Amino acid sequence: MGTLSIVATPIGNLEDITLRALRTLKECDVIYAEDTRVISKLLARYEIKKPLQRLDAVTEAKKADEVIERLEAGERVAFVSDAGTPGISDPGARLVKAVRERAPSATVEAIPGASALTAALSIAGMDSNGFTFLGFLPHKKGRQTALKGIAVSELPVVLYESPHRILKLLEELAMLKLSRVTIARELTKMHEEVVSGNAEEIQAHFAAHPDAVRGEFVVIIEAKRK
Ligand code: SAM
Repeated sequence: MGTLSIVATPIGNLEDITLRALRTLKECDVIYAEDTRVISKLLARYEIKKPLQRLDAVTEAKKADEVIERLEAGERVAFVSDAGTPGISDPGARLVKAVRERAPSATVEAIPGASALTAALSIAGMDSNGFTFLGFLPHKKGRQTALKGIAVSELPVVLYESPHRILKLLEELAMLKLSRVTIARELTKMHEEVVSGNAEEIQAHFAAHPDAVRGEFVVIIEAKRK
């Protein structure tokens, strides 16, 4: 039986990859990637040449069959998402589940590394050790319920958000009368910034700096900061 390595990749800065991740990518038989073009840039930087296969959210179930066949043939398969840790608001979780259920004697190993979630928490200056991670809020059904839950949460809540939706989210948060919202933007990249305040203060920040409504965002909401 082969090995499936779930490999974390950088979230912006290409130097944020572990030695073990590079060795795994160099030594595997094939790399399955959420988007082969995205991962090609990382592989080129580290001069890694490997057969690449696409496995994204749409093809995950079908491609899992293919990965299982390879594992049964004893191959070493690596999986990478576009950025950060696979399975965290990214493809990978269903692949791992399928392999664990249908090829239980294959080895499934984590090659840990960057994640926007942990990077943001590490510099947010939060008042609590615990937190709740919700990933992306649903766009429609379930959104209001999720927002109501955030408003009464004892623990900080961490969300992912896209630049197209960040202002809408801040409008919604402003109505909830929260103690503190922290936005961690463009982590590990040239325009990395962390802004904290109540939701109205963050809205004012983005109104004054429209250029900052770009890139990638982690939002940490402390409804009840002590
Ligand atoms: N699996 C990834 C991880 O481990 O962080 C997350 C993938 S999810 C599809 C992409 C979201 O993660 C972005 O919309 C943003 O909310 C967050 N994100 C990714 N890279 C980021 C960065 N450099 N700075 C801030 N947020 C980031």
